[in-house]
Amino acid sequence: MKFNTKTIHGNQHHDPSTGAVMMPIYQTSTFAQSSPGVHQGYEYSRGANPTRSALEGALASIENGTHGFAFGSGLAATDSVMKMLNPGDEIIAMDDLYGGSYRMFTRIYTKYGLNFHFVDMTNSQNVLDKLTSKTKLIWIETPTNPLMKIVDIQAVCDLVKGKDILVAVDNTFASPYLQNPLDLGADIVMHSATKYLGGHSDVVAGAIIVKNEELAEKVHFQLFAGGGILGPQDSYLVLRGIKTLHVRMQRHCENGRKVAEFLSKHPKIGSVFYPGLESHPNHEVAKRQMKDFGGMVSFNFKSGARKDADQFLENLKVFTLAESLGGVESLANHPTTMTHASIPAEKRAETGITDDLVRLSVGIEDIEDLLEDLKQALG
Ligand SMILES: *Cc1c(COP(=O)(O)O)cnc(C)c1O
Repeated sequence: MKFNTKTIHGNQHHDPSTGAVMMPIYQTSTFAQSSPGVHQGYEYSRGANPTRSALEGALASIENGTHGFAFGSGLAATDSVMKMLNPGDEIIAMDDLYGGSYRMFTRIYTKYGLNFHFVDMTNSQNVLDKLTSKTKLIWIETPTNPLMKIVDIQAVCDLVKGKDILVAVDNTFASPYLQNPLDLGADIVMHSATKYLGGHSDVVAGAIIVKNEELAEKVHFQLFAGGGILGPQDSYLVLRGIKTLHVRMQRHCENGRKVAEFLSKHPKIGSVFYPGLESHPNHEVAKRQMKDFGGMVSFNFKSGARKDADQFLENLKVFTLAESLGGVESLANHPTTMTHASIPAEKRAETGITDDLVRLSVGIEDIEDLLEDLKQALG
């Protein structure tokens, strides 16, 4: 089955009890047993729920995995991966990371004895330099949030092949439409399903997908024993979103490219961070690794002035100033005060998240309206 068909039919079946074409929302906590231990595959909804199972099947299908798991948020999904580790273990993580991941790693898990090294993985030598016998996990994010760096997933996986080290990829920005990390050698794919998978800014959800039975058992144990599950209503919303992922992503990519080209020619703009531009330092890796370049575009101002970013963001009319990304509507975000406020100022400066940086999630509206809005807001 090819990708577009998988978004609609992958691991899906009609509801066995009624023939309902769309999986119903099984709003129930528990399931009747005819005799102790005799049931139809479901006992209690923390362990499994039919609506969540349908979503988990779809997730596995579109990421070319064997097992998918649906969590109450992207961070709950990440949390379950961290809890598989033991005190003393070392993790090598990308230096430009979603702010909430960085906050979890540094403020929750260092307290439990996990040791993190944050390195720029666009150069694999930086990963090699931090590898020790205690390294147990590599945490990749690509494209990164908000600087759109691209990590060569296969190159990093090759570095640790045969070693007892898991490679996990936060695939939120790309979505499974653009890249499938499991095919490139990764062990774990994580998503904030709040973003492109849900696609309509109406649900917070997370996902883990794996391709290995033993690892799947460990993730399910975290979900079941830790309790961070996604409820049936929200599972339904994400499942519904996935069915149009491919058509939405095509338009996100078309519009994203045009916005990046427009900004890179504008006299007030400094740098534009978009992997589809030939001037992007990781453009060649992006071309090889991704089907297209996505709908996320970051940029800063030639003046370097925070007030220019503020004024631009206040002036926007079609773009909404709000956190989050990946929905049908265009959003604009100011990383310093919004998504990346949890990263200390000196750390932000080190990675290049300046106060005049703006991140756009380019939606699927008419491109003429989006460009017109950017033009007037910059004017
Ligand atoms: C939003 C986001 C997360 C966190 O997901 P939530 O669903 O908000 O918990 C993690 N990684 C990336 C790249 C994100 O954009």
